[in-house]
Amino acid sequence: MLARIDTQRGPWDIVVIGGGATGAGVALDAASRGYSVLLLEQHDFGKGTSSRSTKLVHGGVRYLAQGNLSLVREGLRERAILRANAPHLVFDLALVVPAYEWWERPYYGAGLTLYDLLARHSSFGRSRLLSRAETLARVPAVRPDGLRGGIEYHDGQFDDARLLIASLQTAAGRGACVLNYAPVVGLTRTGDGRIDGVVARDLESARELRAAARVVVNATGAFVDEVRRMADADAGMLVQPSQGIHLVLDGSFLGGTAAIMVPRTTDRRVMFALPWHGHTLLGTTDTPIAAASLEPRARDDEIAFVLETAGRCLRRQPERGDILSVFAGVRPLVRRRNTKETAALSRDHTLRVEASGLVTTTGGKWTTYRRMAEETVDCAAAAAGLARRPCVTASLRIAGETAGSRPQDALQLTDEDVRRAVRDEMARTVEDVLARRCRALFLNAAAARDMAPRVAALMAAELGRDETWQRDQIAAFTALASEYLVRQP
Ligand SMILES: Cc1cc2nc3c(=O)[nH]c(=O)nc-3n(C[C@H](O)[C@H](O)[C@H](O)COP(=O)(O)OP(=O)(O)OC[C@H]3O[C@@H](n4cnc5c(N)ncnc54)[C@H](O)[C@@H]3O)c2cc1C
Repeated sequence: MLARIDTQRGPWDIVVIGGGATGAGVALDAASRGYSVLLLEQHDFGKGTSSRSTKLVHGGVRYLAQGNLSLVREGLRERAILRANAPHLVFDLALVVPAYEWWERPYYGAGLTLYDLLARHSSFGRSRLLSRAETLARVPAVRPDGLRGGIEYHDGQFDDARLLIASLQTAAGRGACVLNYAPVVGLTRTGDGRIDGVVARDLESARELRAAARVVVNATGAFVDEVRRMADADAGMLVQPSQGIHLVLDGSFLGGTAAIMVPRTTDRRVMFALPWHGHTLLGTTDTPIAAASLEPRARDDEIAFVLETAGRCLRRQPERGDILSVFAGVRPLVRRRNTKETAALSRDHTLRVEASGLVTTTGGKWTTYRRMAEETVDCAAAAAGLARRPCVTASLRIAGETAGSRPQDALQLTDEDVRRAVRDEMARTVEDVLARRCRALFLNAAAARDMAPRVAALMAAELGRDETWQRDQIAAFTALASEYLVRQP
């Protein structure tokens, strides 16, 4: 990829800053239309929010309650497209809403019938009302006292980091040049002030990289304002960052294959308990934060809140000592005037062409990354005067089965999986392998820490690194893993 940057003649049609879902979607869309495209990611692909989602491919029943039907419909349409294009990465998930009040079954039942209707022919399975006995049979781990019954509905589930790598591989297969560990540190401009390229750093060689572009797309998620200020020092704030945390427990807390959805928590949100890679995933929260960071920390009150909410719907109350891993992600919510609560801020995406010609795209959700990319490339191509070419991603197959996409593989990494992660998936550090090529860090931080020395040795052999590199990698990963473990208060 580095050699491609050096040998590129003339400007790239599109340079994308940011290697999360949004940037990968744009690179895939642009490359598959036949544009030349370079994507630069400052850390590893998916280091930001895109590896820290709830792993649902969904229309968003929550937006249904808010009456935002167009957002739900778009999500449901994209849910169907994603399953058709990546059937090896997107799976059907049955979710059960347990009902403890008399009105909950008819009320949520009606809402989920509407959800089915909005999905039209692309339904993942019809929702249905469950009796108390059926609810207990479907989710044996649900809290039985006071239970009146439930409602079952369907959505998609995926592994976010795996879909990201698969999307980037598909983009690269179509000619995109994608590079991790290459932060963009500046923008270049023409005499009349238009952005015409980027300056980046190759972190491994400390070499400066320069890439000329007909148009630059800023797809840096919660970091878009930093890049916007590279273009215009006076740029205002577009994004209000909000943090959401997840806790991972042993699979026995949920048991079975169905998830639980709590439709109204005490802070008026929804909460999920999902089966994921043989474990139980609980989340999430919505906590406004001052600034985005690449390793956001879960707060103690957030952890307590998730545990307490889970205890209201699970037979077994989870405790802090049960937590195998905790991870936090930052939502790039687009600011609206006069709104303080981030839960009320739009989950829709925002696309804008700045006065400098920089195209900024942020917000949205993983589920709609394809659609968001289509709009972004349409807009960028028009802004740069590129020849019009139609979007083809609605029926573009995402790359094939990869290590870790099969749930049982998550904590059973083979030597060959590690080698493949280095050779085919651009993993450069132990963290890349254990956090995002497989999901060990997110599933069980202590187990991941124990895997680090073997992974470091295998990677060193692949990459030609010495023992000092291995020691540094193990130390860095051990420190990181300790952040995913919950200390006892
Ligand atoms: C808690 C939580 C749960 C969610 N659950 C779901 C869900 O279940 N389903 C769903 O559909 N969506 C979900 N979402 C939304 C979804 O995860 C996000 O919409 C999506 O991941 C955003 O992707 P992004 O590429 O815009 O941002 P990011 O993934 O953050 O990517 C931006 C990238 O830009 C890079 N970057 C920043 N600055 C620079 C620079 N100067 N140079 C180079 N690179 C740079 C960063 O390192 C980062 O990797 C969830 C979000 C959160 C926070």
